[in-house]
Amino acid sequence: MFRILRYLILISLISSGYYLFISEFFHLSKKDSLETVIVKKEKVEAKKEIIQEKKEEVASPKIKKSIDKVQYVENKIKILQGDTFVSILESLNFEQENIYKIISEIENFFDLKKIKTGEIISVFENSFGEIKKIEFFKNSETIISVNLDKEININIRELIKDSFIESKEYTIAESLFSDGIKNGVSPDILVKIISLFSFDLDFQRDIRVNTVVSISYEFDEIVETGRIEYNDIKYASITIDGKQLEYFKFITDDGYVDYFNREGKNVKKSILKTPLDGARISSNFGMRKHPISGFNKMHKGVDFAAPTGTPIYAGGNGIVEYVGRNGGYGKYIRIRHNNGYKTAYAHLSNYKKGISKGVRVNQGEVIGYVGSTGNSTGPHLHYEIIYQNKHINPLKLKLPSGKILEGKELEKFKAEYKIIYADHLSMLYE
Ligand SMILES: [Zn+2]
Repeated sequence: MFRILRYLILISLISSGYYLFISEFFHLSKKDSLETVIVKKEKVEAKKEIIQEKKEEVASPKIKKSIDKVQYVENKIKILQGDTFVSILESLNFEQENIYKIISEIENFFDLKKIKTGEIISVFENSFGEIKKIEFFKNSETIISVNLDKEININIRELIKDSFIESKEYTIAESLFSDGIKNGVSPDILVKIISLFSFDLDFQRDIRVNTVVSISYEFDEIVETGRIEYNDIKYASITIDGKQLEYFKFITDDGYVDYFNREGKNVKKSILKTPLDGARISSNFGMRKHPISGFNKMHKGVDFAAPTGTPIYAGGNGIVEYVGRNGGYGKYIRIRHNNGYKTAYAHLSNYKKGISKGVRVNQGEVIGYVGSTGNSTGPHLHYEIIYQNKHINPLKLKLPSGKILEGKELEKFKAEYKIIYADHLSMLYE
């Protein structure tokens, strides 16, 4: 049912910044890479056998070129905690002078500090036990080969990879993540799905039993090592109680990989940079002399000057976690959003009726009104955006724009999403 279709596609770089969750799940990807190291190891051993078999066949001097290769015996060294490239070369009995030469040659192409515990270094010896070549991975797609003859020369080899698109569909019994794993979806892809929907869904509350997840995504397989690298999600849909949220990958005219629904609306509702209309910035984020205390202090938000009573909007979907007086902030509201963000609103004249702790608010909904309560010199909104408990500059917030496609770009998107969807269905049901 889950038939894999082969495609040769262009490799699109993922704008890593889109995936806010990636660091949280770093341990998962780390685990993944350990597994692939094991896979790699098996492959390498298999290769060695082939080499030894060949050795007997190549008695004829005609095949001169391959004789060199055949004479090498490959030993694999796993980098352990505390190992350095120097210590490994020392353990291979290289002289200090040569170690220095080898290291400095490699450093022209690769920062050896970046080599990680668990990686494998292959050392090739000739029949006299002389090390003639050292190989290791620069990254999953590139091998650095150090040839040790009279001269040291470095050869950088790109590995061949095949690109695939795969589709999966599953029903949630427990959680999006754990059921995804049970259905053979990679953690890398699940993290991306969660990130993609994190502005729409609260995964703790919104996901119910019988929620259907349907996805299509790209991955590459490095032919030589068998390592798999997951790329972009092409299509993702989550259906809860018959209500469907779906997004299609699209590269916008300005070159960004982004996701849109069938109407061409960007999925990711950004947190509003300006949560009120017709305001002017009266004080920016950063160090400043406090207008009341006179001390230099970090200004952890942005001030928007606006007449008393101007409505203030919720910066994003979320849950109100604080409403009330809060010291110098005066009348204050703080909202917790789904994706590690919080927004705070200070010096209000009043709260909107019905806004209380625990209430759910939608982006753009009125929550209160501009005022001058607390330490304030005049009516303004002091607005803070807090990400993982750190204040960030609202004006420099790097979140997707909430773009809506129009005109030719929309036409292009519509043509593309129909193809993505047709491919997805054919992969699922063919
Ligand atoms: Zn302020």
